Amino acid sequence: MERRIIFATGNQNKMKEIRMILADLGMPVYSMKEAGVETEIIEDGMSFEENAEIKARAVSRFLKKDIILADDSGLEIDYLDKAPGIYSARFAGEDTSYDVKNRIFLDRLEGVPEEERTARFVCAVAAVFPDGTAETVRGTIEGRIAHEILGENGFGYDPIFYVPEYGCTTGEMSPELKNELSHRGKALRAMRKILEEKYGKDER
Ligand code: IMP
Repeated sequence: MERRIIFATGNQNKMKEIRMILADLGMPVYSMKEAGVETEIIEDGMSFEENAEIKARAVSRFLKKDIILADDSGLEIDYLDKAPGIYSARFAGEDTSYDVKNRIFLDRLEGVPEEERTARFVCAVAAVFPDGTAETVRGTIEGRIAHEILGENGFGYDPIFYVPEYGCTTGEMSPELKNELSHRGKALRAMRKILEEKYGKDER
């Protein structure tokens, strides 16, 4: 039977990015919906890693023979004790626009000097395998909270996440550059390595 990878997300942007990064693995990659699974997942873990594994296990219950991947990600602002962290999506309410959420953080950091504005995007990717075992990897990108909202690309907190080495926010980067540098890109490439090691060509 052909080995399939199912990614536990409903987010089409994430699916595009994931398909690009896992393209040369030789295994087809499907979204949860494409695999016919619709389930409410309660993310009640205390870390990105726990939440990623919770999502992957929830889908694995329906698709035991497939490799299930899931991710969990967010923004950590050092000055705010790593908030919003695992609550990044839920911060100030799921329905509040990112324009408003981003402005809240700019206000909270008003007057805070450059060296104390450090922040990072974190992404954990979990895999649950047909034998019930799991692996988790983490990718990060370091940056600073900008002083204004900049850039129309990306999503979420991208317009306030400034990357000093590139002199712009991730909201101003091309999707290709962001994939190369991003927390999600790094975590997915680390997961690709694990899958390559686990499923050599002969076993596919
Ligand atoms: P998740 O979909 O549960 O992983 O939630 C991630 C949340 O973290 C998103 O809704 C955004 O608020 C934030 N986030 C994660 N990755 C990024 C990114 O690459 N750019 C901007 N915001 C991000």
